[in-house]
Amino acid sequence: MKTKEGIFCFVCPSHCALTATFEDGRIVKVIADSRSGLHCDICDSAKGPNTIPEVHSHGKRLQFPMKRAGERGRNLWSRISWDEALDTIAEKMKFYRDSFGPESIAMVLGEPKSLDYAFAQRFATYLGTPNVITPGN
Ligand code: SF4
Repeated sequence: MKTKEGIFCFVCPSHCALTATFEDGRIVKVIADSRSGLHCDICDSAKGPNTIPEVHSHGKRLQFPMKRAGERGRNLWSRISWDEALDTIAEKMKFYRDSFGPESIAMVLGEPKSLDYAFAQRFATYLGTPNVITPGN
């Protein structure tokens, strides 16, 4: 079954408004959404429309939390639950905050897409660290 949905391109900071065609849950086509009223000036090379379908449906796309299952560098991983992943991260953050101070922790983001930068800054402030880093830094 084919369906269409509005999406944003995440490949560069322009964040063009696009229309994605889904077939059986996979994106098969992406075009500019000129009726969205939002920025939809797709790059000449169609970098986003060419990249999004492959990235979205790639067989090796990371979809679940994974934990190292062997020595570092052996590339052995096992799937864990979201609860275990969040508990593990929380324990490590507490350990570093209590052992070395909150400024020993940094929030490192990829290209922020929307409110994620604001959320990272709020969380960092709560934690007591000024260290929020993006590609722009
Ligand atoms: S479609 Fe091109 S210009 Fe628009 S956000 Fe994606 S990569 Fe950037």
